[in-house]
Amino acid sequence: MGFLDFFRRPDAARDRVAIEIDIAAGVLEECPVCRGVSDRQRDDRLPAADLIAHQRFDANDASVAPFAGDRDDLLQRLRKVRDRFGYNCTCQDAG
Ligand SMILES: [Zn+2]
Repeated sequence: MGFLDFFRRPDAARDRVAIEIDIAAGVLEECPVCRGVSDRQRDDRLPAADLIAHQRFDANDASVAPFAGDRDDLLQRLRKVRDRFGYNCTCQDAG
């Protein structure tokens, strides 16, 4: 992502961070075969995603810089970004 993209598409940058944290927490799954992301309805993993988000803000982690300190926005996005993913990734749908 270029420097200008950061300002032109703040939503995309924020969504990318939210997706990355969801995957790290196990809310979303990244397929090792097609690299597609799927939502296995792991609501039980959301608290772990929230925790990672808080830890990154507490540590002033560079990955959450696009949020400019807005924790609530990230916490909401951890849930909202799941809407775009199906239960199966592309290769599972094909197989
Ligand atoms: Zn796949």
